Amino acid sequence: MSLTLEENAELKEIIRKIALLNAVRHDGKAQAGPVIGKILGEKSEFRTKVKELSALVNDIVEEVNNLPLSEQQRIVEEKWPEALVKERVEEEKRLPPLPNVDKYAQVVTRFSPNPDCVLHLGSARAIILCYEYAQMHRGKFILRFEDTDPKLKRPVLEFYDRIKEDLAWLGCNPDEEYIQSDRIPIYYGYAERLLRDGNAYICACQPELFRRKILASKSCECRNLPPEEHLMRWRRMLEGSYREGEVVFRVKTELNHPNPAVRDWPALRVIDAEKYPHPRVGSKYHVWPLYNFACGIDDHLMGVTHIIRGKEHLTNMVRQEYMYKYLGWQYPEAIHYGRLKITGASLSKSKIVQGIREGLYKDWDDPRLATFAALRRRGITPEAIKKMIIDVGPKTSDVILSWENLYAYNRKILDPTSDRYFFVHNPIELTVKQIPKTFMARLHLHPDKPERGFREYAIKPQGDNNSAGFWVSKKDIDASKIGNIIRFMELFNIEIENVNAYSAQASFTSESYEEVRKTKAHLIHWIPVREGMPCQVVMPDATVAEGIAESACKQLKPNNVIQFERFGFARIDKFNMKLTAYYAHK
Ligand SMILES: [Zn+2]
Repeated sequence: MSLTLEENAELKEIIRKIALLNAVRHDGKAQAGPVIGKILGEKSEFRTKVKELSALVNDIVEEVNNLPLSEQQRIVEEKWPEALVKERVEEEKRLPPLPNVDKYAQVVTRFSPNPDCVLHLGSARAIILCYEYAQMHRGKFILRFEDTDPKLKRPVLEFYDRIKEDLAWLGCNPDEEYIQSDRIPIYYGYAERLLRDGNAYICACQPELFRRKILASKSCECRNLPPEEHLMRWRRMLEGSYREGEVVFRVKTELNHPNPAVRDWPALRVIDAEKYPHPRVGSKYHVWPLYNFACGIDDHLMGVTHIIRGKEHLTNMVRQEYMYKYLGWQYPEAIHYGRLKITGASLSKSKIVQGIREGLYKDWDDPRLATFAALRRRGITPEAIKKMIIDVGPKTSDVILSWENLYAYNRKILDPTSDRYFFVHNPIELTVKQIPKTFMARLHLHPDKPERGFREYAIKPQGDNNSAGFWVSKKDIDASKIGNIIRFMELFNIEIENVNAYSAQASFTSESYEEVRKTKAHLIHWIPVREGMPCQVVMPDATVAEGIAESACKQLKPNNVIQFERFGFARIDKFNMKLTAYYAHK
């Protein structure tokens, strides 16, 4: 390489830095390939000198790899502490970069729900991608309630708040919030301007007649009337001279646009305000903007730079681009991601609403639903949802996930943080005889974290038989035969002697686990009869698993998420006569 001595020294230092950072992230062993890749990414002038560069990198990587990891870490922390932090951030956030960020002073994204239902998993992608991208670019995340259809997609007051609660739970709090029903005069202003400029018209044709004309790429009778006529119709529209369905405000497009659904799209219409009052503004307005009109105007006025939404909105972009052109506006960057399907989860808003109305679901957090409220109640963490969505990213291909995928993310988060307890489902009483002494069972709250503490139960044999009573699961006993040796987890080994419908008998055989490990004895959990408390676990299909929880569960509080050993993760819901928990997953 034809470099000066000084340049050469500088290059070596850069290679050394990248190699050390790479080594620290990979247990002390840097790899030449990624180091070369990174240098070529930063210094394109070396692309013609890859061979020479490789030789240099190989030498330095070898040198770095000869240092112990602790020494590598020390150097990095001393010389480039900021690089270490930056690398970590980059590794966590693996979303691909947004296009054309440099064109804008600040990235602005928005999530715009209609408050006609609570939010569910189907909204997670829009929310999380918009929020994360805004964070990533130190931008702004806007929440906009699109509530301009008091007739067919009627907003409901309680959902404005519930949606905000859901966003807060997801950790995606908006920087700004707007409600479209507060902005009706703004939309009227732009409507009038479009009419005045001859870029829109008010059609009074029979819907069927209009449809036939537009499908044939022909203008209806109203379209070519002068703006003065349309401004007059507009005034009459606002005054209330037209009844619902009599007129439609349309934005002009090419009449022969290849997609008939784009042609002269409807922008505002009359709704019977007495019959369909709006829950926030009542009967104040009877001219309401349609989706594309209000949304298109707001995206511009609110300075949205990047619209991130599902590809089902592609046609809407085409429609809105006409309006943007007429108003002299630049359409924001639009990212249209593919469909995200979650098998087994009903993500249809109308089915959820109908199910609630008909009493099929008890409430918005019924465990059968994929609403955020239901997931929250079951102990599914927002972090798991976030991680899953970021891993899927904004790709345009369709993605099919299952509940199991979400559970796997959640399990990874809950496993290290959840304490363990015993819950005996469908309990029967098992009497164990010939217990030779008092045993103190010490059960760690977490097997890998002894510092979390333990629960302790004394097993005191009583009576002539030196016996003690335990709750065990009927299923565990049914799975054993008379004469089988079973291990009580963390306690002792027993031999099953007799099993009836409601009780069973066994004898103590030995204490050591080693002794039964070889015979692969069944390990089961147990609760001393006097240490049991009634407990019910509401399952994802809304059935209830009745059983007994160990008395240490008394110290739990609502919202604690725990693992019932050999049963699954569950969120503590409430204590009254009995403990109620909601099941998350295995
Ligand atoms: Zn017409």
